[in-house]
Amino acid sequence: MLSAQEALDLLLGAARAVSETETLATVDATGRVLASDQLSQLDVPPMDNTQMDGYAVRSLDCASGSAVLPVSQRIPAGHVGRPLQPGTAARIFTGALIPEGADAVVMQEQCAFDEASGAVAINHVPKSGEWIRRKGEDIRSGSLLLARGTRLRAQELGLAASVGLASLPVYRRLRVAVFFTGDELTMPGEPLKPGAIYNSNRFTLRGLLQQLGCEVIDLGNVPDSLEATRAALREAAHGHDLILTSGGVSVGEEDHVKPAVEAEGRLNMWQIAIKPGKPLAFGEVRRATQPDPAFFIGLPGNPVSSFVTFLLFVRPFILALQGASVAPTRRYPMRADFDWSKPDRRNEFLRVRINECQGLELFPNQSSGVLTSTVWGDGLVDNVPGQAIRAGDTVNFIPFSELLY
Ligand code: AMP
Ligand code: MG
Repeated sequence: MLSAQEALDLLLGAARAVSETETLATVDATGRVLASDQLSQLDVPPMDNTQMDGYAVRSLDCASGSAVLPVSQRIPAGHVGRPLQPGTAARIFTGALIPEGADAVVMQEQCAFDEASGAVAINHVPKSGEWIRRKGEDIRSGSLLLARGTRLRAQELGLAASVGLASLPVYRRLRVAVFFTGDELTMPGEPLKPGAIYNSNRFTLRGLLQQLGCEVIDLGNVPDSLEATRAALREAAHGHDLILTSGGVSVGEEDHVKPAVEAEGRLNMWQIAIKPGKPLAFGEVRRATQPDPAFFIGLPGNPVSSFVTFLLFVRPFILALQGASVAPTRRYPMRADFDWSKPDRRNEFLRVRINECQGLELFPNQSSGVLTSTVWGDGLVDNVPGQAIRAGDTVNFIPFSELLY
């Protein structure tokens, strides 16, 4: 059996990133992956400006702590003042450029303006540079702003816009075809016949793929037969980068995914020493119209197994195919507020939730079919094989929130 890390290394080693790129308006690029390094062409801020409403002064003029200075000009944001005459102050508003000659801003709360004389009392000894945002203090012209492989979230788009980038080069979307094997599968909206279940994986997996910014092509439910599975594979391979399926990857006689992929391409059946989610099928399916094959991943049918194996393996693999840089999944040390006295010999991923005391609570039923645990939970405890857990122990916590984008 492979360890989780070995399986992940094999997947990432096999991944070929898409190479085609397109240019998108920055405003439309949420969730896409940046295709080249972006350097800033500007200093941000572009010029020294004030962080406060107040008075721009020469700090030397205010050394006494009780200076009274005539107000020689008024500078709102977006306007350029005149050089500041020695011995005077400039009324100034947040974001406005510091006039030449001034070297500090005194906030208005520390000043008293006298209407009659037009002078302001400066009741504070400013340090040179006080309340001034320096040119280039956030971003220097020519510096690396965003690296190739960055997935663009709202804050990356804001940063790009702050240096005037109106469009960005991104990799094309990944095209992922999905289908679901099992004669028992029924769609919500249809009545449930005896022995049937609703196809929940279709909803979970499509949602996960969409959150990752993939284009999803859904071929629906496929009956448990070799011919039907082979036909679905051929259709799924056409024009798509990755085929993702659930169910049928065990080795029962009703499990047709393995022989079907072997007939249409190549397959490795992996037994991964994790729980839930032991079997994972990884391979390739030939494409009639393209020289290189489509990738294939077959997830187990049990809903929690397919959810967890998606998060642990499919997600990083998809990031790699998208051209995104793949950071290792972070584990946070947290206190277990539960006992787990009969650990499995496999690496377990337990569904847990954070309680009010900042500890972790265990969902009582850890069976791989209990989808409720994924909704109740905040994440997974990554438990070392054979490791019993006692309340108070420190465990490795993986929040779902880190894995769901
Ligand atoms: P399999 O991997 O095909 O042996 O299926 C394992 C278990 O998962 C069985 O109880 C199936 O009924 C269930 N299952 C398979 N596919 C799905 C699906 N798409 N949605 C929900 N449960 C499924
Ligand atoms: Mg099945």
